[in-house]
Amino acid sequence: HTLSEFLCTHMSKPDYLFINNQWQDAVSGKTFPTINPATGEVICQVAEADEADVDKAVKAAHNAFRLGSPWRRMDASHRGLLLNRLADAIERDSTYLAELETLDNGKPYAVAYTVDLPNVVKCLRYYAGWADKWEGKTIPIDGDYFCYTRHEPIGVCGQIIPWNFPLLMQAWKLGPALATGNTVVMKVAEQTPLTALYVASLIKEVGFPEGVVNILPGMGPSAGAAIAKHMDVDKVAFTGSTEVGHLIQQASGSSNLKKVTLELGGKSPNIILSDANMEDAVEQSHFALFFNQGQCCCAGSRTYVQADIYDEFVERSVERAKRRVVGNPFDLKTEQGPQVDQEQFNKILGYISSGKREGAKLMCGGGVAADRGYFIQPTVFGDVQDNMTIAREEIFGPVMQILKFKSLEEVVTRANDTKYGLAAAVFTKDIDKANYVSNGLRAGTVWINCYDVFGAQAPFGGYKASGNGRELGEYGLDNYTEVKTVRTKNQI
Ligand code: NAP
Ligand code: MG
Repeated sequence: HTLSEFLCTHMSKPDYLFINNQWQDAVSGKTFPTINPATGEVICQVAEADEADVDKAVKAAHNAFRLGSPWRRMDASHRGLLLNRLADAIERDSTYLAELETLDNGKPYAVAYTVDLPNVVKCLRYYAGWADKWEGKTIPIDGDYFCYTRHEPIGVCGQIIPWNFPLLMQAWKLGPALATGNTVVMKVAEQTPLTALYVASLIKEVGFPEGVVNILPGMGPSAGAAIAKHMDVDKVAFTGSTEVGHLIQQASGSSNLKKVTLELGGKSPNIILSDANMEDAVEQSHFALFFNQGQCCCAGSRTYVQADIYDEFVERSVERAKRRVVGNPFDLKTEQGPQVDQEQFNKILGYISSGKREGAKLMCGGGVAADRGYFIQPTVFGDVQDNMTIAREEIFGPVMQILKFKSLEEVVTRANDTKYGLAAAVFTKDIDKANYVSNGLRAGTVWINCYDVFGAQAPFGGYKASGNGRELGEYGLDNYTEVKTVRTKNQI
């Protein structure tokens, strides 16, 4: 496969919905364009699922989950084998998938190929291994009984994913759901439907039975909302904005009380103590904020710097931001591509204006970086105060906020003064200070002297309004499991 082949075949006809291992038009016949954010040009048309298509997909998933179905009767080890084969097929087609991801999302190809794709493959292999190792317990209850638990799949899982890591979010969702034997109806983000559909073709190729995975491009308020309120969806897993997270939880409450897991936004504090290795702290803090065009739920978007090193840290961070290479995401030297779409682009520029208006000091950037596409200059604000909008709201763009602090007690209190609790970091050479800060932070992940270090083996998720439940690792299996307790009377 090459990109030009893709464009030839897809420019003339829409990409389809994937239901019951078949490519289908939307019931309504509607399509929507997906756009290359580096140019603003349409890549191709994609079928647009809405409520009627969600209904079809849920029926297919429900049928695939029926008692005695091929999927329900399949050996757990074979589910693992299918996940491993899917990982192998994705690895085989990594170059193509990375190109397609870059085209649709705008992230640098070098990152898509060396970060996103390998982590997708590792995630699927990690969960493939769990498929036949997710064991219940035998429990010594009182009386003459034999008691054990079975870890059973929940059933039909709705999965709604965002556009910032399209392939990786798909893998984080599919891995644990399929390892534990569930079936899936996934709505992918309207900005980035293409790679998920290609993976759908691989799901079919490697032999997952019909209806086990169904993939629907479409809009949040129609297709997404239809999943969230569907009476035959047993669980919904959502990654995206906190605002929509509220809607998902409400839809569950007013329909069938489906289980809900949420991975939402953040405003993660990154705390630099005066004894930290300066060069390393500057580089890691730059990465913490600017990685993926700033479009990370766990971005270190409040950089707290201790007073005695504040000036030097700001100066060096500005230097680093000015050196950041922005441009064509297919150029291997590029560190930063375009934002994902016009809406995000406008929203980020709005936050930059608010920062200036509310009195933060614009140290570099602040403007548009190219005359077409959605490129924004790497931007650094100094003298940021805790109550400014740019210090409270998720910007989701290449805009760094640097704040000054004096004492450890003070910075932990200020760092926790947010509705969010997704991630945090601390840079110091002093183990006691690192422990004090990391224990005191109300966040699901704390990095010490590093940032954005992930692994399929370790859980990730939020405290407070950053979410419910954990993804990845053994903990990630819990969200896709019903625990059945069986008690047998011993008769002899
Ligand atoms: P979003 O609307 O929350 O999108 C996430 C997913 O939810 C998409 O698939 C979206 O569909 C879907 N969705 C939207 N409204 C829905 C509804 N009423 N019911 C069910 N599903 C719905 O996020 P966004 O609009 O792309 O971005 C807005 C902000 O969210 C960003 O600026 C950023 O702050 C945050 N965000 C966070 C993450 C994260 O990783 N936690 C990821 C992306 C964005 P559509 O594709 O049609 O919107
Ligand atoms: Mg949206």
